[in-house]
Amino acid sequence: MNPAPARIRYLMSCLSWPVIFLTAVIITAIGFGAGAPVLGFNIAYLMLALSLYILEQVMPHEREWNEDDGQTFASLAHTLTSKGTVQTLFIFSAALGLSSFISPAAESGYGLWPRDWPLIAQVALGLSAAELGLYWGHRLAHEWPVLWRFHAIHHSVVRLWILNTGRFHFIDSLKSILMAMGILMVLGAPMEVFHWVAAITAFIGMLTHCNVEMRFGPLSYIFNTPGLHRWHHSRDLREGNKNYGENLVLWDLLFGTFFNENRRPPVNIGIGEYMPPGFLQQLVWPFQVWFSRSRAQGENVNYEALSSRNQVAE
Ligand SMILES: [Zn+2]
Ligand SMILES: [Zn+2]
Repeated sequence: MNPAPARIRYLMSCLSWPVIFLTAVIITAIGFGAGAPVLGFNIAYLMLALSLYILEQVMPHEREWNEDDGQTFASLAHTLTSKGTVQTLFIFSAALGLSSFISPAAESGYGLWPRDWPLIAQVALGLSAAELGLYWGHRLAHEWPVLWRFHAIHHSVVRLWILNTGRFHFIDSLKSILMAMGILMVLGAPMEVFHWVAAITAFIGMLTHCNVEMRFGPLSYIFNTPGLHRWHHSRDLREGNKNYGENLVLWDLLFGTFFNENRRPPVNIGIGEYMPPGFLQQLVWPFQVWFSRSRAQGENVNYEALSSRNQVAE
């Protein structure tokens, strides 16, 4: 290969994650500062999605992951359903007066939240605290069969790209949001911190799933990078049941689930069990497996193959 383009590609692979992330954060900060948080966030998110989509075409991490897997509509539909559910929950919780529980915390912080800290330190604290809920929500989804059936939809794809970012069963999403936001509410984090945590989670989530050739170096010891998350999508559970962090790897490091070996993560990703191909079938599948299992009890039918994440034969 011509050395000049090779050098440019190397430089781009080192810079793309931090440059795209920081640009999104700066655009959001300008929007927040100008009193237009929604507009700022949307411009930042669009810029992030567009640049990652272009990079996926120009310098993919796995070329075969750019091929259609027949799951684009299902992934998009799960993204919209999950986002819709979470937004409906916030609207209903406001209507039901739950905000009267949240508000005193937001006003006074129950004395727990360090409101005198600089905003950047408060956001770092908010991310770390929310991450504890995200970490355990995600880890339990892998370790409890009942929760795994919902989470399996996210893992059932055989390629990683930006559209997988929001591919979650809405119950899986709801559980994670409630656990993360619950911690921030109890601590009495101000609304500004909620907004920042939500924005950064959206940015890192899309970066995490992108199919772009990137190098991360020390970043993978702070943030959940695509390099770490590709291990998490491995069929081999010694690699797959690791790296549960959504934004930060703090709790993976503390609870011993951090995994980052110096070799290429597997290209053949997915799960060792059946998942129906259609969106609506996938929505009811966790319940269907549950009822099938209940019915099968006493009939000597082995439904474990349907309902638990199988260890892949070595
Ligand atoms: Zn997972
Ligand atoms: Zn994922």
